[in-house]
Amino acid sequence: MYCIGCDRISDELLCPSCDRQVQTGSYADLYDRRCPDCHLPILDSAYPCSWCTDGRIGWGGYEGLLARLLTLHKTRKDRRLVHYLAKLLVPMMNMIAPDLFIPVPASEGGCRQRGYDQMVLFSKELSRQMGIPSRPVLIQKKGAIVLLTRNMRIENKRIVLLDDIYTTGKTSSDCRKILKETWGIDPFVVTIAES
Ligand SMILES: [Zn+2]
Ligand SMILES: [Zn+2]
Repeated sequence: MYCIGCDRISDELLCPSCDRQVQTGSYADLYDRRCPDCHLPILDSAYPCSWCTDGRIGWGGYEGLLARLLTLHKTRKDRRLVHYLAKLLVPMMNMIAPDLFIPVPASEGGCRQRGYDQMVLFSKELSRQMGIPSRPVLIQKKGAIVLLTRNMRIENKRIVLLDDIYTTGKTSSDCRKILKETWGIDPFVVTIAES
């Protein structure tokens, strides 16, 4: 088999050197700074912690090999890649200690074209690795976010919305809004990368 990062022969999805490259792109590795309140990694101590102020955090920067992996994740269904990406987030997710994952839905067109929603796969895999339930209860329909069920036990639950890339935050804030309006809760948002 070949490393999907550099095409060299490798038993794993990524060879040790490419794996290191991805791992060192995490904010926890890049910036050895922690928020004094929540202890999650912070990008720049000159800015307020995004988790404490906005309930949101990204695992790493949307660049280099991680950006390529996320593009692949979007364009082909690869169990090993989903497994790899989910595993990256486990240590950070352990600090967050969620009770439930809800994937941020892909656009209607994207789903139809690919035949799958990459974040539903990701959320399911993270759920399997961590033993925390995943409920894909949100979809996108005609550009709007739709909640598929209103009957779910969510009292006192720490809900984490999962998305691949945080750019403008438009879709995730629409998801937050509908959950807030329906259930009166404000879920957290965790993304694999942010640009
Ligand atoms: Zn490699
Ligand atoms: Zn904080």
